[in-house]
Amino acid sequence: MKMATKKRYGFVIDIERCIDCRACLVACRAENNVGIPNTRIWVMDLGVQGQFPDLAQTYVPYNCMHCDEPPCVDVCTSGATYKDEESGLVLVDQDACIGCGLCVEACPYDVRYLDPTRGVVDKCNACAQRVEVGQEPACVATCLGHSRIFGDLNDPESEVSQALKEARSMQRLVTDEVNPGPNIYYINGDVREPALLPREPNYTAAEVFWRKLAIPAVVAGIGLSFLGQAAFFTKQLLEGEKEFEE
Ligand code: SF4
Repeated sequence: MKMATKKRYGFVIDIERCIDCRACLVACRAENNVGIPNTRIWVMDLGVQGQFPDLAQTYVPYNCMHCDEPPCVDVCTSGATYKDEESGLVLVDQDACIGCGLCVEACPYDVRYLDPTRGVVDKCNACAQRVEVGQEPACVATCLGHSRIFGDLNDPESEVSQALKEARSMQRLVTDEVNPGPNIYYINGDVREPALLPREPNYTAAEVFWRKLAIPAVVAGIGLSFLGQAAFFTKQLLEGEKEFEE
């Protein structure tokens, strides 16, 4: 379900400028205390692209896409994963997370992981703790090639909006079948590698039962009970009026 938010924070990544130095991975790990072997960011090496003599080595950084319609939020049973109404970022309240892992399966980009030591889910939060105080996410602040840009996509004056306006090309990782509205925009390069494209969200049998059958049944039950009570009170009212007239 698409949720309206005041801001729509997202990333623009200039493919031409990524040199695979992985400073972003180190900065993210240090800022967010992400222990090895876990990571919240990846860089995929797509090898050499183009036609001779216009050849280029292509690297594609990626992390949580802070989707407009995030399947991970839909499946969260405890409400720990949510889309922040102010910033539009998809966040995890780890105190509320019960570690069921449904969101890990539901994410079409496989950018969440279950931290076995803490028993909770973790992923990129765009360094919300830095963004709140006016700083860039750590990966953006340390990006040597200035490949990573971050900001409010709803603001036409923001650096991300300007970069999109000036880009020679723009792509998002979506297909005709799976498009949760990812908020990472790739500019100036071809990133549509099958391994990066989103897969269908995996919903477990229990989750399908809960969402498709149990919740509609409960809602229908409440509706019917409300209608029954309304009919009963109307009948009582009419009978009371009739007795009063007699
Ligand atoms: Fe959720 Fe995955 Fe989208 Fe991030 S990329 S918001 S984890 S569905």
